[in-house]
Amino acid sequence: MNRLIILCSLLAFSSCKTETKVEGIANDQLQKPKKIIFLIGDGMGVSQLSSAYFYGEEEPNFSRFPVVGLIKTSSTSKITDSAAGATAFSCGKKTYNGALGLDADSNRIENIVEFLKSINPQVGVGLVATSSITHATPAAYYSHVESRELADEIMLQLIRSKVDFFAGGGKDYVFKRGDSIDLYAEMQKAGIDLDTTAMLKRNWEEGSRYGYLLAKDGMPSAPQRGNFLLRASVAAIDFLDSRESSFLMIEGSQIDWAGHDNNGEYLKEEVLDFDRVVGAALDYAEKDGNTLVVVTADHETGGYTLAGYRSEDGSSRNYDSIVPSFSTGGHSSTLVPVLAYGPGSELFSGIYENTEIHRKMLIAMMGLE
Ligand SMILES: [Zn+2]
Repeated sequence: MNRLIILCSLLAFSSCKTETKVEGIANDQLQKPKKIIFLIGDGMGVSQLSSAYFYGEEEPNFSRFPVVGLIKTSSTSKITDSAAGATAFSCGKKTYNGALGLDADSNRIENIVEFLKSINPQVGVGLVATSSITHATPAAYYSHVESRELADEIMLQLIRSKVDFFAGGGKDYVFKRGDSIDLYAEMQKAGIDLDTTAMLKRNWEEGSRYGYLLAKDGMPSAPQRGNFLLRASVAAIDFLDSRESSFLMIEGSQIDWAGHDNNGEYLKEEVLDFDRVVGAALDYAEKDGNTLVVVTADHETGGYTLAGYRSEDGSSRNYDSIVPSFSTGGHSSTLVPVLAYGPGSELFSGIYENTEIHRKMLIAMMGLE
């Protein structure tokens, strides 16, 4: 039905623009955000998101979203990894596991950052993660490589990209590289003001780029890193505030790592940390009025289940307590949630492919023109 509407409307587009509909909404009725804050909970399936409702002390910020959807996460394999999942979001194409910014035939494909910058070089771009900034999810917004493992090359591509602000781990890919390139000198040439000591806001200067690399590789887990993700995200939002238009991707990277570890305690802390950041993004969007906030995940990790207690012989059950369980040390193919708030958010309801996130963001920002 939806597809039919889009197809009919696309056919009608050339003759009568005002009748054009996008996902059932008239193109000229669609409110277009100036800014997007895109939050990815890596490995955050519905159960992971649900955990915030059982373990948090307050109502989770997830409850503040009026629009809810689900996405299908497969890559060219039935079960995606984070590189192919991130490429689906950043470039709008399904690809093979491990690939960043390449299609299934290894052709380079344009990502949303490159596209937005080509339309308007003044669009501000920020990336924040609790992994190394070269890790699969953030890397899909600036790199094009056949393997996510090529972290030295990915860091080089970050410096040569148009990303204005980045914060996460990954110092070793600048200072302890496997090649002889002086990446620190490259960074200075590229006008990047790098801080490797603390997540402090600065007096942002127009035209400067800012980088924070606060761990050798990934950042420590939630309790050890304190409120790094919140501070980095708030700094990025502050940096981008003065821009007319911006795109900010924030990743709660370690929800996935906790799933791989089958560690319920670690997972709970990471989801709650991520939810606090979601709250800060919503606070900004409410004030700003021109910001679209989208929260989703690249896939589910761990086959995490909020199960009740069951004795080993199965003879007794207790539904008054939750004993989380896991079915795998890897990823699963379950659908994952999408939450949206702000102008353009109505595009994000329904059940659709992960690649649609990319298309919907572009339609939200640009309309169909
Ligand atoms: Zn993973």
